Amino acid sequence: MFSLRRISTQITSKGTLLAVRPNLVLRGYATAQDVSTLLLVEHKDKAISSSTLNALTAASKLSDNVTALVAGEDPEHVASEVSKIKGVSKVLIAKDKVYEHGLAEVYAPLLASTQKQLKFTHLVASHSAFGKNIMPRVAALLDVAQVSDVIDIESPDTFVRPIYAGNAIAKVKSKDPIKVLTIRGTAFPPAPAGETGASSEAAPESEKPALTEWVSEELQKSDRPELGTAAKIVSGGRALKSRENFDKLIFKLADTIGAAVGGSRAAVDSGYCDNAIQIGQTGKVVAPEIYLAVGISGAIQHIAGMKDSKVIAAINSDPDAPIFQISDYGLVADLFTAVPELTEKLKK
Ligand SMILES: Cc1cc2nc3c(=O)[nH]c(=O)nc-3n(C[C@H](O)[C@H](O)[C@H](O)COP(=O)(O)OP(=O)(O)OC[C@H]3O[C@@H](n4cnc5c(N)ncnc54)[C@H](O)[C@@H]3O)c2cc1C
Repeated sequence: MFSLRRISTQITSKGTLLAVRPNLVLRGYATAQDVSTLLLVEHKDKAISSSTLNALTAASKLSDNVTALVAGEDPEHVASEVSKIKGVSKVLIAKDKVYEHGLAEVYAPLLASTQKQLKFTHLVASHSAFGKNIMPRVAALLDVAQVSDVIDIESPDTFVRPIYAGNAIAKVKSKDPIKVLTIRGTAFPPAPAGETGASSEAAPESEKPALTEWVSEELQKSDRPELGTAAKIVSGGRALKSRENFDKLIFKLADTIGAAVGGSRAAVDSGYCDNAIQIGQTGKVVAPEIYLAVGISGAIQHIAGMKDSKVIAAINSDPDAPIFQISDYGLVADLFTAVPELTEKLKK
């Protein structure tokens, strides 16, 4: 059962102590010397996901002892690539067809059983859809509380994470003997390539419940930059009024400058763009070099997903739109004239 009693929380906003939850249970916890971390590697089409590299940097802040777990039908190529990344001390390989499509129902027992047999103190994954799907189940199987969306690691038991859609930052101290963490990718740089390859071995055997079966998936192929790693993002909101306008204006502007495309939830819910590109609290969290918000008001739930962008620019017809409060550059204009004009000028 999930229990809050093992966690003490300090919620601070601009340095002010707002609340302290008392520790009711005190248990021994790890120091850097006896920390051993299991990092779950996310991969697709034989490529390691970039967010795993960010999670590895976070894991390396805990200790030098990081074991990477690579699972899949043919995981050897990815395992070999992972072994060459700086910070990986060992690679565990779980080779089985059931791991091919990232089903949480088989990954969670694999992680829990690997922890039980090899006694890792920390289990780390990225805060991607993959990690978010698996790690709470792992925490439940190990009967510990999970710490989500970590943006800083202060010590092996103290983590920093945003709450209230990023409006406050909580410092969480976990007294659980095993820490299960998901890492916000934009908060840590990607781990670089290493000089020597780490050793690999087979992961311990684990149960593979046959309750869920992967049937099929429909993927949209795109040559545009990936949202998670794009240096530039053009994002459109409700003001676009139709999918046709969204395609014609937002995608065209994005393609002109080689940017990825994002959308507000209102744009997604109205069917102007796909939910895979929603930015915000319930969408993707991004931190590009430049983020251009077009016809987006700047609701806190949207800002939660893009406020760490290096430069924020906005086009909005309302000079009082909240997005301007966090923008470095703002253009008060009708997007239906401003965006085509901007696109033409940028083309030149
Ligand atoms: C639990 C929860 C989770 C949520 N998660 C998310 C999330 O992940 N991401 C997200 O985005 N939202 C999220 N929301 C929704 C959020 O609260 C807002 O409703 C949403 O972000 C609004 O989208 P928008 O800015 O496109 O639309 P609006 O708020 O309607 O803003 C449209 C803007 O366009 C401007 N405009 C209108 N016409 C023009 C024009 N011709 N030219 C230029 N500008 C124009 C208007 O001035 C206005 O500022 C969430 C809400 C809840 C309750």
